[in-house]
Amino acid sequence: MSAEHRMPLLFVGHGSPLNALEENQFTRGWKEIAREIPRPAAVLCISAHWETLGSLVTAADLPETLHDFDGFPRELYEVRYAAHGCSWLTRETAVAGRRFAVGIDREWGLDHGCWAVLRRMYPGADIPVVELSLNRSMPALLHYELGRALAPLREQGVLIIASGNLVHNLGAVTLPPDADFNTPYALPWAEEANERFKSLIDSGSDEELVYYHALGPEVEMAVPTPEHFLPLLYVLGLRRREESVSWFNDEAVAGSLTMTSFLVS
Ligand code: ZN
Repeated sequence: MSAEHRMPLLFVGHGSPLNALEENQFTRGWKEIAREIPRPAAVLCISAHWETLGSLVTAADLPETLHDFDGFPRELYEVRYAAHGCSWLTRETAVAGRRFAVGIDREWGLDHGCWAVLRRMYPGADIPVVELSLNRSMPALLHYELGRALAPLREQGVLIIASGNLVHNLGAVTLPPDADFNTPYALPWAEEANERFKSLIDSGSDEELVYYHALGPEVEMAVPTPEHFLPLLYVLGLRRREESVSWFNDEAVAGSLTMTSFLVS
């Protein structure tokens, strides 16, 4: 099938749950990217916030909006994103991921890594959404390979969104005086790790990114736990050699998180 019929891919740095409420440069970035790309038939989201034993794909007809965070303003818990599920996409994802024993889940809804971004991209909630979990028991290489196996979905009008953060260390969050969480600010190691990731992504150095543990101390600080980084590997696995990367929201906040996002098309 020709490139015109292949949906692009997105890696989105989602950051704080407050981005679901605030209007800021990042949420504007999400809104703009949706305008630049073809309207999808459905969305498959791989979010940092759904980790399971075994890979699972959602099958709920009306997935619940999950408020999977604590200590935020009441308003945030009232947000609903009423997108439907998508039975054909659930089925096709399970088929594409057969070698990885992708199972069906009827309980999970949409976590904030997914809906906080989608409500800016598609505020009408009129595009069906399915989530694929991160299998906690799978090594990084298999996340990459499962990503590659999902390639046929792109030809069916499916927008695959991987939602995490390239640099994500909540234990190192540092706010300069008078700054709020989303004021651009990077600690030196966070900046270095982010630049390193970008240059490896730009040069198609997938193997180094899969074996990110070997990338040195800055990356060790940037990825203290795997869940916000692993969604990236799905996009890398899916990316075709001839496709290019466009960066957006390339900014660090709170010292130790980067919102850096990219489109592959
Ligand atoms: Zn997160």
